[in-house]
Amino acid sequence: MENSIVSIIKYLVIKRLAGDTITILAVKEYLVDGASPSTIGYKYHVSKFRIRGYVQRVVDKAHSHAIAAAVVRATFPYIMGIDPIILKIGGKYVCILCDTQLRQGQVEHHIRRKHKDIVNNITSQIIIKLRRSHE
Ligand SMILES: [Zn+2]
Repeated sequence: MENSIVSIIKYLVIKRLAGDTITILAVKEYLVDGASPSTIGYKYHVSKFRIRGYVQRVVDKAHSHAIAAAVVRATFPYIMGIDPIILKIGGKYVCILCDTQLRQGQVEHHIRRKHKDIVNNITSQIIIKLRRSHE
């Protein structure tokens, strides 16, 4: 169970570092707030099929809708408190940690490969905060 929780947190951390906040909000509004994919899609100008895809990726990691919802609910404030490291400037994406220009499709791979320590560090900090809040 620990591993699936860690992998959901890591997924959300990478999305936030990448500046992909819409995916995080969409997953949270569906799993936690109970909004429909079409309502969320309309709000963020994304198709309801893509919203379902975002949610499915998180639910698959937990193998459970309820666990995925609980993890997203508990970690959401911490995830939103992370500062993105990718800035979108014009049509380009720039990593402010290493000043590298990236295409959209390279962003998450770059974070996973070049800034793995930061991802792991932030993920561990969130897990520590979750444990403290349950004591
Ligand atoms: Zn970088």
